[in-house]
Order: sequence, then structure tokens, then C-alpha cells
Amino acid sequence: MDAEDTLLAIRHQIEQCQACPLAAGRLNVVPGEGPANSQIMFIGEGPGYNEDQQGKPFVGQAGKFLDELLGYAGLKRSEVFITNVVKCRPPENRDPQPEELAACRQYLDAQIAAINPRIIVTLGRFSMARFIEDGKISRIHGYPHKVESRIVVTMYHPAAALHQPALKDALIQDFSRLRDIMNQPTPSLLEQNYTESTESPTKENPPEQLSLF
Ligand code: SF4
Repeated sequence: MDAEDTLLAIRHQIEQCQACPLAAGRLNVVPGEGPANSQIMFIGEGPGYNEDQQGKPFVGQAGKFLDELLGYAGLKRSEVFITNVVKCRPPENRDPQPEELAACRQYLDAQIAAINPRIIVTLGRFSMARFIEDGKISRIHGYPHKVESRIVVTMYHPAAALHQPALKDALIQDFSRLRDIMNQPTPSLLEQNYTESTESPTKENPPEQLSLF
């Protein structure tokens, strides 16, 4: 089975999934979308209202901002695979619960294995925690990290930046830097393995708790 067929099989499994309470409230599952041979994969938190309505990731205001951000990295949405750590909408856009994250992890793991991206970009703290458990996003955003032989770049969630100008600036800066990261060979990136950023989006009170949908 090639990667495209594998992704389709994962999608069908997600469509049938009842493994956590989020199944009860969904209108549509949001498995993710993008080319199966994508070199870069973006992982957000979970579907919001618009995503649940349409069954597609990042289609609301945050999605428009993500499209704009991709442009700073020299990317188009059609070139990247975009998904979330949970594939069904949490009620009232609340944070996904640990048991929901655990139940849904199998699908994200299978998608990563099928696509085998060179670079994974996490958007928000829940997707960051999937790869860097004790990371502080205000300290490590925007830089490459070596995680299980992959390059993981942690970023703020675009939805969080819609109401916080400082985060918007940080995201624009991080996506601009992503262009340089993508242009570097993997061995060079693995050697860098930054552990923290020297920048904060605000000087006095860098935000760490984000409302992310
Ligand atoms: S969020 Fe994930 S684990 Fe929960 S029902 Fe949806 S697909 Fe299944």
C-alpha cells in the first residue's frame, strides 16, 4: 500500500472512530489534508466550529492567517499536509483532554509514519507536547529540535495570535525563519538541535497558556 492509500485507509478508520467522547459531538471528522509525499507537516490542536462543519483543517479565520503565514515560508497550502492532534471537535472549543489525546494518538502516529515528513511544525502547546513534553513554547518557538530522528519546529497556534499582536509578530518571524530551516540539509539541522529560543513575544509576560481554536 503506498502512502496515499495508507492515508485514505486512516481517514476511513477515523470516520468510523468512537474511541473517545468527542465522537458524540462531531458533525464531521477532520482527519487532515495535503499531499501524501509532503516534506513538511503542520500539526494543530483540534477542529473548531468551521472545521467541524466542513471536515477540513484550518478553514476559518485562523486558516486564512495560516495561509498568509505559509507565504512567509515560501509555501502554499497545497504543498503541505495539515492535521490536528485530535480529529473531532472538542465541545465549546475546550482543550482536548488527556484521554482524548491518548485515544487519538494512533491516527496521528499512523499519518506521520505514512507521510514520513522531513520537518514537522507543531502549532500550539498540545501538539508541541506530543514531541517535547516539558517544552515551554514561549522559550522554544521557531527553532528546530531533534525528536526521534526528525526535525520538529514548535510554533504558536495561529488562532491564539488573532487576538494577541505580539504572538502574530512572533509567528511571522518564525515562519520567515522556517524558510531558512527548510533550505538547510537534515544532518545540519540535527546537529543544531536548539533547546530554547532567546526571544519572547512579550517582554514582561510571555504567554504560555493559550486558547487555541
Ligand atoms: S477525537 Fe480521535 S479518538 Fe476521539 S472519536 Fe475522534 S477520531 Fe476517535
